[in-house]
Amino acid sequence: MNLLPDRLLAGYRAFSEGRYLQETQTYRTLAREGQAPETMVIACCDSRAAPETIFGAGPGDLFVVRNVANLVPPYNPDGDFHGTSAALEFAVQALRVSNIVVMGHGRCGGIKAALDPSAEPLSPGDFIGKWMSILEPVAAGVSGNELMTQSERQTALERISIRTSIHNLRSFPYIAERERRGELTLHGAWFDIFTGELWAMDPASGDFQRPLVDVDKEEPVPSSDPADDAAA
Ligand SMILES: [Zn+2]
Repeated sequence: MNLLPDRLLAGYRAFSEGRYLQETQTYRTLAREGQAPETMVIACCDSRAAPETIFGAGPGDLFVVRNVANLVPPYNPDGDFHGTSAALEFAVQALRVSNIVVMGHGRCGGIKAALDPSAEPLSPGDFIGKWMSILEPVAAGVSGNELMTQSERQTALERISIRTSIHNLRSFPYIAERERRGELTLHGAWFDIFTGELWAMDPASGDFQRPLVDVDKEEPVPSSDPADDAAA
């Protein structure tokens, strides 16, 4: 019996014979000198939205924390177990990252659960329900909106949750302070699994717009020629 699933062993073999060989020096330098990533990403656990894949990151590039629905809880030093807050503390206070990106994604199961809090919990502990209650104040406003379709509510809450997480990031005193000093920038992004598009949040308005890298790829819109109309 294999100690790890076959798929993982095959993947590791490909890594050790390919990428690791190409990047051995990078790994060794990082091992000797320690990591110094400039960017922290807070992403969802969803297997389809891996930040390292989406951003083409190599070893040492990104400091990543993933949790259900890429949420940042409000600053609460009196709480018990805070995996995400501990990762934030290390990234900001020890690694001194310059950027934090909260990256949400389409079709997020956690967000779907937040839109339907009356659904049967997956276990008696209802850890997902408790975790998603971080979004309770904003989720109620979206889930009760009868004018929107289910998919519109889903996308809306995915994006509102990113703004909420950025708001919560600023509740950590050292994050607010480093942002005020211009040493740290907070970003929002949203990944569409189906199209592969990455939308970036405008920090002033909070709106999500397709980033320049995507706009650059677009074909120029042909100018309309009155002769075409005449021919048709
Ligand atoms: Zn998700």
